[in-house]
Amino acid sequence: MRFIDLVATHAAATPAAAAQRTSDGEEITYGELWERSGAIARHLASEVPASCARTAPVIVYGHKSPLMITGFLACMRAGRPYVPIDCHSVPADRAAGIAAQLPRPTVLATEDFPAAAAATSGTVLSREVLRTLIEAGGSVSANRAIAGEDTCYILFTSGSTGAPKGVEVTAACLDNFLAWDLTLGGIDKTGLVYLDQAPFSFDLSVFEIAGALASGGTLASLTHGTQQSMAGQLAALAASDIDVWVSTPSYADLMLSAPEFSSSLLTGVKLFLFCGETLANTTARRLHERFPGARILNTYGPTESTVAVTEIEITPEMAAAPAPLPVGRPRPGTRLRIVDGDGTALAAGAPGEIVIEGDTVARGYFGRSDLTAHSFSRVTWEDGTTVRAYRTGDEGYLDDEGLLHYHGRLDLQVKLNGFRIELGEIEEQLRRLPGIDAAALTAPMRDGRVNHLVAHIVFNGERLAGESDFRLGLRLKEELKASLPHYMIPKKIVFLDALPMTGNGKVDRRALAETRG
Ligand code: AMP
Repeated sequence: MRFIDLVATHAAATPAAAAQRTSDGEEITYGELWERSGAIARHLASEVPASCARTAPVIVYGHKSPLMITGFLACMRAGRPYVPIDCHSVPADRAAGIAAQLPRPTVLATEDFPAAAAATSGTVLSREVLRTLIEAGGSVSANRAIAGEDTCYILFTSGSTGAPKGVEVTAACLDNFLAWDLTLGGIDKTGLVYLDQAPFSFDLSVFEIAGALASGGTLASLTHGTQQSMAGQLAALAASDIDVWVSTPSYADLMLSAPEFSSSLLTGVKLFLFCGETLANTTARRLHERFPGARILNTYGPTESTVAVTEIEITPEMAAAPAPLPVGRPRPGTRLRIVDGDGTALAAGAPGEIVIEGDTVARGYFGRSDLTAHSFSRVTWEDGTTVRAYRTGDEGYLDDEGLLHYHGRLDLQVKLNGFRIELGEIEEQLRRLPGIDAAALTAPMRDGRVNHLVAHIVFNGERLAGESDFRLGLRLKEELKASLPHYMIPKKIVFLDALPMTGNGKVDRRALAETRG
């Protein structure tokens, strides 16, 4: 069944049930969600004829408020793709860059929309205008809703050439993902409370939104303000009644650093769902100790194949063993292939690039046919089904039992605290700053994960009077914050006379990694 139809069913059957509760005390019921999204959808539908709706994306800007998810549903119901932009993770210049890649997008501004981004957008509907539309009421015909190959959302992720790239996920991708998602953990998912912690700009949040709203459950949203203090988070979690925990392993590690984080605080949690980065044995082990009644699932997948495509339950025995944890078996509808540099399929046990084929692979990168052609293709299976395939850039192998094991990346993409980062994007933004002639990033690891980012730069520009390397580094970091999210700002800046080069004229990243930092 379609996601949007499932939400409609819950709105009709249990209109007073809570669809979302935030740690700031905001709440919206299914009835309100349906009514309000219908009113906004009516306006969005009036802007473009149905035949053009699927190519007229709408930016939904803001944070964790109920108006954000109302905006997402409104777009789906009006047949228009939505582009979620989290106001705390995406600085103004980056929002402007995203808007500039879209055809004069309408903006549902649930928070103040930066002027720089408004300049590259179409109509900006402020909170007040959205409230007026809601008061006016109305709805749209169910025929307008997205379906099948219509684009559901476009999620912008870090891009190696300096600008973020928009992954175009279809309605069918979401529905196919959902059919599997609702089976995960082997528990009845009806009406459960889901942790909603990941910013809506990241596809991990789709795990939360789709899972909760498709099953008549509730999103327990931790806002940016709440996430600024451990005490605030623990208090919000204690009050949340969470059944399903969804996060990156990094976020679980952060919470595990508080001794109170246990089944005495979260009494109802049944399932931990992890995705997005390596789940360490120690993390799983500590969770088993603190939450003996809960199951732990490791899942794997990039935004380009809709949240996750493999899963495996991590038992206490697996967590205690010395072997790194596998990332799981493919869902029905997904096939995995491991290929060498020429694209030739490799046998079980041999490491190579992971290729994902199936019915949740995205359409490609919005407006970037060059990037799409590089990573996406079509394949026909022996039963005649034609599906999309995506070359992940991830390295791994399939064992004899068909379990996928993840090794790392084949390129310069890293995960820092669960955030996906192309080092090339930071390097490009550094090179755009006055005085920087060359820049290369390294990402030192600790305990198997990236610990921080180091920028190695050649600076031949003007220094302020008496400005030390340290002060100049702080100034450059400040300047970077205009275009890059906080998690992409290098922790250290190392000044060099020249970048070391390998024999074939490339930056010698190994030599850089050995320099201080
Ligand atoms: P994102 O598009 O932000 O979800 O990031 C996708 C990337 O995160 C993948 O291509 C992998 O490199 C990494 N990733 C996702 N799931 C896992 C996992 N379970 N273990 C290790 N790395 C993962």
